[in-house]
Amino acid sequence: MTPDPETATFLIAGPVRIHPRVLRAMSTPSVNHRGDFFHGIVQEIRELLPVLFGTKGHQVVLTGSGTAGLEATYSSLVPVDGRTLVLSNGNFGERTNTIVRRYSTHVTTVSAPWGAPIPEAEVLNELAKGDVRAVCLVHNETSVGLANDLARLAPAIRNSGALFLVDAISAVAGIPEPIEAWGIDAVVAGSQKGLAAPPGLALVHLSDRAVHALRPGTFYLDLAAHLKSLEKNDTPWTPAVPLFLALREALLLLKEEGLEHRLERTHRLAEASRAAVDALGLELFPDRRYASDTVTAVKNPEGLGDPQLRKVLEREYNILLQGGQGALMGKIFRIGHMGIADWPDLLVTFAALERILGKAGRLPAPGRALSAIVDRMP
Ligand code: PLP
Repeated sequence: MTPDPETATFLIAGPVRIHPRVLRAMSTPSVNHRGDFFHGIVQEIRELLPVLFGTKGHQVVLTGSGTAGLEATYSSLVPVDGRTLVLSNGNFGERTNTIVRRYSTHVTTVSAPWGAPIPEAEVLNELAKGDVRAVCLVHNETSVGLANDLARLAPAIRNSGALFLVDAISAVAGIPEPIEAWGIDAVVAGSQKGLAAPPGLALVHLSDRAVHALRPGTFYLDLAAHLKSLEKNDTPWTPAVPLFLALREALLLLKEEGLEHRLERTHRLAEASRAAVDALGLELFPDRRYASDTVTAVKNPEGLGDPQLRKVLEREYNILLQGGQGALMGKIFRIGHMGIADWPDLLVTFAALERILGKAGRLPAPGRALSAIVDRMP
């Protein structure tokens, strides 16, 4: 079979598959971004954003990928004259560290090996010193398929009085994130993950406290300027109009499904994926207790690297999974099951994995992975 993007089973760790309604929403004639039609679109998006974040608040759409949201947030909220704590246990934690250090020279990084949980005692120890003014971390470490335990870390961070800034790019609309209960001040989402819109927009939720603390960071991504324009259903600079049209449709789809339902479905798909991985005799990469519900990261079995697994899936079955990043390249593969991913995607993927492992004489029990999925279907 020739790989065909139009019909592929597409389960990379984001961008994710896009609903045809969202695709169609993008193919419109040119729109005047300063005219009534577009102002109406922005107004609708503003009204729909609480569906995505699960709460109302100050919410901004930025033209730019998720990293634009991170840069906007860190450049305007990381204090210049106070200490910032960065927690890191994967590629995106390291990215956070790099961005934050562009905007502050007073940074402490608490890190764990990729795929291991954040050392809570060390975090508490740093917070107890009483001078931490901002804490930055990644909720869902896409690179290793691990969800950090924010429910556990949040109370101490909130009680410390520090600004709590979260890269939730692959968590929002995939993993429960009670923003207010956890006291998060900035939540950064990307359009191409749980929301299932195309890549190219960053969505940022800010608390009242964060809005008061904003300082001019970068010019293009100035959050205060974006907030001010959005109040008038406008954007400060020319926005990526087709992406805004797609965003509105993706938000409508999310509203129709309901955030709770999407989170629940994503969780069930994740549980089924983990059970199917076990049934294949393969091993999860991260500490199992923290395995992510949006991305399942699996160790490549001995002797079966990307050329024998992922590339065969792609070439012979038109199934796209993602490989490892950095030092994990060729050592793990990742299955993204967020957004509008659904049971047929998993069934096809694990059927093909069974076939490949079976042909290699490495399948413990034919059919068991598929049963593990079927047993968990609604
Ligand atoms: N942070 C996390 C947790 C991510 O998963 C990603 C992208 O996969 C990013 C940051 C970077 O986002 P983008 O590539 O949209 O700029």
